[in-house]
Amino acid sequence: MTEPMASSPAAMTRPAEGRAPGVPDGGRPILEIGDVRRRFGGIMAVDGATLDVEEGSVTALIGPNGAGKTTLFNVITGFYRADHGSIRFQGREIARRPPHAIARLGMVRTFQITKALARMPVMDNMMLAAPEQPGEQLVNLLVRPGAARRREREVRERAEELLSVFQLERLRDEYAGVLSGGQRKLLEFARALMAEPKMLLLDEPMAGINPTLGARLLEHMHRLRRERGMTFLFVEHDMEVVMGHSDRVIVMAEGKVIATGAPEAVRSDQRVIDAYLGGGAAVGSEG
Ligand code: ATP
Repeated sequence: MTEPMASSPAAMTRPAEGRAPGVPDGGRPILEIGDVRRRFGGIMAVDGATLDVEEGSVTALIGPNGAGKTTLFNVITGFYRADHGSIRFQGREIARRPPHAIARLGMVRTFQITKALARMPVMDNMMLAAPEQPGEQLVNLLVRPGAARRREREVRERAEELLSVFQLERLRDEYAGVLSGGQRKLLEFARALMAEPKMLLLDEPMAGINPTLGARLLEHMHRLRRERGMTFLFVEHDMEVVMGHSDRVIVMAEGKVIATGAPEAVRSDQRVIDAYLGGGAAVGSEG
């Protein structure tokens, strides 16, 4: 589900700024994916995908339903194992690493608030999202209680700061389950940022979010890119958001990357138009 075109957050927060300072156009890749394949039974969900994501960029991954976008996200972040191919993050091969190891290297994806998390207060959701530190191991809690307390204080301060940025602080003691769809999306984003990632992958950040909250999410994404040089890769069906908020668009169809380029170039690429028409939707339409 996406917002109507006229009130789309894209129209309200079109980024005026360029890329992060020090990140040249056509800069070095932070993520390099080579000939990745992933099969489910008889279905080749990802069928030899090859692509790069430039450091400090906002890159959109689009494609018709069933193109393999979510599967590729899960393979990149270690939740599914690739059957074949290489995935390099900051020059390091990560294709066989588990999700927590990949997150520790600085690549994180957002997650939907699960039923278990929905039954916990917003603040606890944030605290749980902090990466595990040596201080949390039992032996360190006993041997170095001061360090563990300091770490807990730092994590809490970071959580407070992020809740405030996303204007969720007055909901800190509410159960996450009572948040609106849009507020949940912001909480998912804020939770992912607890790990202070270098690169963040977002799966349909605009689905089910109202224009005001969507604009807040996009604004924050651009600020993190501008101020910290963070890299974003997002899957999105709302073409207004894709065209207005990405530097580069990667298009998948039937498990393969069929086009890569600037948003306007990709939009008029005949292969892309054909892929969408084959999938029953035109580029520039919604959902
Ligand atoms: P959408 O835009 O509809 O979310 P997508 O581009 O994210 O689609 P995927 O969800 O990655 O596409 O699915 C690609 C193909 O793999 C589809 O044919 C889908 O049915 C299949 N698939 C995905 N996950 C699984 C799974 N866990 N088991 C079996 N088949 C799967």
